[in-house]
Amino acid sequence: MATKNSTQSEQIDGVLIIGGGYAGLHATAAVRQAGVPVTVVDRTGQHDHVTRLAAVAGGTGTVEDASSPLRSFVESVRVGTVTKIQDGSVTFTDGRTLQAQAVIVTAGSSPSSPEIEGIKYANALRSAEDALKLRLLIEGADSLVIIGGGATGVQLAGAVAVAQPAVSVQLVEGSAKLLGALPAELGAGAQRILEGRKVKVSLGASVEKITESGVVVDGTLLEGLVVWAGGSEALGDQFGLPTAENGRILLDPTLRVTGLKRTFAAGDTALHRSSDGKVLPMSAQVAVRAGAAAGHNAVRLLKGETLEPVDLRQLGWVLDLGGRRGLAQVGPVNLSHAGLDLIPPLLHEAIDLMGLLETGGITALRFASSSAKSLIPFRLPEWSFGQTATRFS
Ligand SMILES: Cc1cc2nc3c(=O)[nH]c(=O)nc-3n(C[C@H](O)[C@H](O)[C@H](O)COP(=O)(O)OP(=O)(O)OC[C@H]3O[C@@H](n4cnc5c(N)ncnc54)[C@H](O)[C@@H]3O)c2cc1C
Repeated sequence: MATKNSTQSEQIDGVLIIGGGYAGLHATAAVRQAGVPVTVVDRTGQHDHVTRLAAVAGGTGTVEDASSPLRSFVESVRVGTVTKIQDGSVTFTDGRTLQAQAVIVTAGSSPSSPEIEGIKYANALRSAEDALKLRLLIEGADSLVIIGGGATGVQLAGAVAVAQPAVSVQLVEGSAKLLGALPAELGAGAQRILEGRKVKVSLGASVEKITESGVVVDGTLLEGLVVWAGGSEALGDQFGLPTAENGRILLDPTLRVTGLKRTFAAGDTALHRSSDGKVLPMSAQVAVRAGAAAGHNAVRLLKGETLEPVDLRQLGWVLDLGGRRGLAQVGPVNLSHAGLDLIPPLLHEAIDLMGLLETGGITALRFASSSAKSLIPFRLPEWSFGQTATRFS
């Protein structure tokens, strides 16, 4: 049972998870399956379906696809923003603290803030709120300039080109290919699909500054609404935790935060490495597996068992470019050629549905994307742990 004292410090039973994203919900499922009490703290109280946000912002998805109430996935939810984390204890913006036998930090990442003049004029796409705002802005725009040809930029360009054909779209990328972190075939496949939709792709382009009316690239002003999709950074150092470059929290092989005993971290916020020492990218797939593994080890800690080293790797990528076209790398297999590009959007839906089932059971399927829902041949039951979460700070 939770206990409070006069200094606004509260001790809760079991495991406390900071962040209700992919890593947080999979950590929650692992802890719950072991019969251990679990509480999720999130600054919004919503689970954002981040891999669907490009579709929502671009217009191929519906606004309902953007996020779902965390209370439909987790019984005990606190809404509040955590500012500081010590071993087994977290502090909120109003100074109150929560303590638990184990804490898992899954606070995700934010758009990076590069030193480009006028970056304040660029719009970001990292949360459901960003996606809904961007959707309205794009609907009112004649042209759109997206900076960054990674997963976010490519998926957004694809969705806008399908749903808003009157909006002219330019995708500006500094390196020589799209999807630089993925095999070259996928970058070429993305370029083929986007150029087939009249998206203007500029590779090797150097952004000089951003203004209220557009982006100056190699001396030329590209007019339009600007979106920054040039990368993400974690904010682990803001919590007072040890971090590497890019703000990602340093971990031991069991996903425990370096130097701490009762605090784990997983997902974008953490620096995950494969067994050969390579830094893993920030991806939903890594977040899901790391979240579940951190949940299992938190349970072992509570039971006094030995923690297990976690073997993580990036198994692949599945990107949906809208219009029933996409790209995928599944292990050694690349799906990027015309004809095969019909398969990745179906894989994307299947992975999304599996994630909902694993974290919220069959009732969570009602939060499937609008396109996936149209494929489910039965009426989904309505059920929730309650309508509102406790607002903590
Ligand atoms: C537009 C877009 C498209 C993408 N597409 C793909 C894709 O197709 N495939 C893929 O593998 N990856 C994709 N990614 C990357 C992927 O979505 C992320 O790697 C993934 O969301 C990370 O999950 P997470 O649980 O670590 O963080 P998140 O999903 O971001 O969840 C973090 C949670 O923590 C909460 N939080 C943050 N700070 C605090 C705080 N201080 N206090 C309390 N709560 C807090 C947030 O509200 C949020 O709910 C995409 C990313 C974007 C932005």
